[in-house]
Amino acid sequence: MHGYEAVIGLEVHAQLSTSSKIFCSCSTTFGADANHQTCPVCLGLPGALPVLNQNAVRCAIRFGHAIGADINRRSVFARKNYFYPDLPKGYQISQFDQPIVKGGSLAISTDETGYKTIGIARAHLEEDAGQSIHDGMPQSNVKSYVNLNRSGIPLLEIVTHPDLRTAEEVYAYLVEMKALLQYLEICDGNMEEGSLRCDANVSIRPMGQASLGTRTEIKNLNSFHNVKRAVQHEIDRQIAVVLQGGSIEQVTLLWDADSQKSRVMRGKEDSHDYRYFPDPDLMPVALDETEVQALSRTLPELPRHKRERFESEFGLTQTDAEILTQDKSLAGYFEGAVAVSHQPKLTANWVITELLRELKGLERGIDACPMSPHDLGELVSLIDRNVISGKIGKTLFRLMFDTGKTAQELIEAHNLIQITDSAKLEQIVNEILDQNDDQVQQYLEGKTKVFGFLVGQVMRVTKGKANPQLINEILRRCLDGRR
Ligand code: ADP
Ligand code: MG
Ligand code: ZN
Repeated sequence: MHGYEAVIGLEVHAQLSTSSKIFCSCSTTFGADANHQTCPVCLGLPGALPVLNQNAVRCAIRFGHAIGADINRRSVFARKNYFYPDLPKGYQISQFDQPIVKGGSLAISTDETGYKTIGIARAHLEEDAGQSIHDGMPQSNVKSYVNLNRSGIPLLEIVTHPDLRTAEEVYAYLVEMKALLQYLEICDGNMEEGSLRCDANVSIRPMGQASLGTRTEIKNLNSFHNVKRAVQHEIDRQIAVVLQGGSIEQVTLLWDADSQKSRVMRGKEDSHDYRYFPDPDLMPVALDETEVQALSRTLPELPRHKRERFESEFGLTQTDAEILTQDKSLAGYFEGAVAVSHQPKLTANWVITELLRELKGLERGIDACPMSPHDLGELVSLIDRNVISGKIGKTLFRLMFDTGKTAQELIEAHNLIQITDSAKLEQIVNEILDQNDDQVQQYLEGKTKVFGFLVGQVMRVTKGKANPQLINEILRRCLDGRR
């Protein structure tokens, strides 16, 4: 063992799902023609004045309530000065020493100990920058292009304390944060489309040391898996450097997903490099006490609570409860199905194994599921009450999924009701025994392995509709009758 531990802090940028931008009324809809959702404010034309979007403020307040943070009744927008072609004003409007949300925490699930609490230092509002486009344009070999549609979209930057210790914890934190933002309906959480972005700060220190080591910051992480890989790569790199007697330089790194490597982008800037100062065009944000209180009552049941309730109320395992609550719509779907089936565990199995697999195959989310929760609940109930076998259930499931028809409709159309009539089954069994004299003799001589073959024959003749337990019983009785 090398005797070092990693220390990681994350900065997550969440694009808030407001319909207009943070300081102007331009639309935030994704995918419009380049530079068509712009105005003097978000183009940064001189003299244009920003006006704060109250919905963005409400999103931040609700987020603060959800993580148990202090909501600062007075916060201040500041100018963060830097030059970049996609930042026409030459500064980004952000918050600095007086952010809207301070403190709070998020519990993440870990394998060994159940839960771990990650402290959140702050969350502040800021505007997004535009996008520079270097590839895929008519003259990309000689020009770079700028699209300012994204300029001015509201962001909530959420900064953790350096409480994370492994790449797995980082991953778990992102999963949990995404679920929380989605439950609150303040961000769609789509990392590939850029509505959730993450920078990771990584350092190492000898086990048992209290002070922090020198950190590096990794940028350009565009999927949860990339964050995990990049963090692990950086931990390994730093340990290797230190073990060889070197020291860590404080730099900003860019992750290259193709080569699975990072490269140095620039020396790390310090906050004084940005020359922050209060933006004279915007009043300090003074929150109305009644509204802050009222917003705390608009919170939905949050992912962790829902998960715990699924465990206690439905008796689900932690893993199943986690899978079902990671997505609010999926959790709703599951509850809708249970309301019909009254069989939480069996329903959870069907949702997790069959339904999620089919949806994945179609690359669809639960919102585009062709089978309603009610119909799935009914199917589970039919299986539970032995009206159809589990095997027929699977056939039926596929048919329902493909046609959108209900279980009842399909059972009638395809004559799929389970045969539970013993007299009828006994007749079928005897016919099969008559046709398979050799196997019957073998069985009677003690070669019980052929029993499985005979069960298979009954299944074949009944097209899987016979109740398997009943087949076993009757077959054994009829065979014994032939001794
Ligand atoms: P900056 O303003 O440079 O981004 P912050 O102090 O706001 O720096 O910290 C950014 C993130 O880096 C936070 O999540 C914080 O927890 C984390 N962090 C700070 N110091 C370290 C360190 N030595 N090792 C790992 N993470 C760190
Ligand atoms: Mg930073
Ligand atoms: Zn605008």
